[in-house]
Amino acid sequence: MVTEPVASVLAGLETERPALEDLYRDLHTHPELPHQETRTAALVAQRLRTAGCEVHEGVGGTGIVGVLRNGDGPTVLMRADMDALPVREETGLPYASSVTATDETEAEVPVMHACGHDVHVTSLLGAVALYAAAKEAWAGSLVAVFQPAEEKADGADAMVAGGLLDLVEKPEVALAQHVLALPAGSVGTRMGPVLSAADSMRVTVFGRGGHGSMPHATVDPVVLAAMVVVRLQTVVSREVAPTAPAVLTVGSLHAGSKSNIIADRAVIELNVRSYDDGTRTHVLDAIKRIVVAECQASGSPREPEFELFDRYPLTDNDPDATAAVTAAFAAHFGEAAGELPLQSASEDFSRLPDAWGIPYSYWGLGGIDADLYRVAEAAGRIAQDIPSNHSPTFAPVLQPTLDTGVTALVVAGLAWLAR
Ligand code: ZN
Ligand code: ZN
Repeated sequence: MVTEPVASVLAGLETERPALEDLYRDLHTHPELPHQETRTAALVAQRLRTAGCEVHEGVGGTGIVGVLRNGDGPTVLMRADMDALPVREETGLPYASSVTATDETEAEVPVMHACGHDVHVTSLLGAVALYAAAKEAWAGSLVAVFQPAEEKADGADAMVAGGLLDLVEKPEVALAQHVLALPAGSVGTRMGPVLSAADSMRVTVFGRGGHGSMPHATVDPVVLAAMVVVRLQTVVSREVAPTAPAVLTVGSLHAGSKSNIIADRAVIELNVRSYDDGTRTHVLDAIKRIVVAECQASGSPREPEFELFDRYPLTDNDPDATAAVTAAFAAHFGEAAGELPLQSASEDFSRLPDAWGIPYSYWGLGGIDADLYRVAEAAGRIAQDIPSNHSPTFAPVLQPTLDTGVTALVVAGLAWLAR
């Protein structure tokens, strides 16, 4: 039923392709840190205007919203994130980034599109251009949201706080995609939980400082923190059901300044990933319970302090919306469409649909040369040989990645918008 509209909208891809490839290389060469996406936002706004969109700039800082109206019909929201990471690019690509920028701590850092958000921006601009050129094939409104600061977990919230819900009517559905270390040309959908909820926690435990030669007169926070770190390893392995995936990683541990001084505190930073609220609450509570008990066991003179930060919501795909996207992908992509494995990464995209209380579907997009991927897969060396997102060597192949990114948005959107 939707085959004809899909063919009509995709008819423009051939013409758009060279400009989209140029745009992608340009974005890749000029990555911007979270909340600093001003150049990207200006490029996006200009292209949205060219496509005939109503454009809202500066939504939640650098966020951009383009609305393409085409008569009565459903409203579909599509979201692309725009920010890059403080990573020094080592891809060796002719369009590699050599950009540096000042981060929020005033440090000069290298910047790279190491998460592939440049693919998302280019794909969404491509889809908008194709929809704009084939208005006879569909009806309704397309809301294209270009979000800042996904990597800081606060870009989607910033757009909601910046008035997004007042700028556009309530959409029927929200859609988003992410380029991943999967074969280029492939797309993968998943019902229910697809990306983990993430919570970072800063734990400060207190000792009593003193001379390294007189430990009996102190409470050593290094030993206390070491006990906490070891004991935390039992949370997932002993307290969470084997059927409920969860991760608890201590990523940072700081105490002391000199070999013969016993410090008065230790700071532990840890990260938790989970896929349901029950597991999430249990793990966070278990951390506090263990820290408090270890402090007591050590005779710590002060209650420990806990601070939660960089919190990402669970990405939990709506079954009906995802069934519609999955069917549309199967009809168009055939064998290149499949099930996306559960991802341990996290996203703040769902805060946009959750703010309206609307269903959403989020899918994965392959970005790795398919032959290279197959060789690594056959050798059982995907984790070793295929760079993943955030790696300095993560370099999606330009094609068929971009074509697939544009096509996936067109095909999925038409499941609602096809005339
Ligand atoms: Zn990322
Ligand atoms: Zn990302």
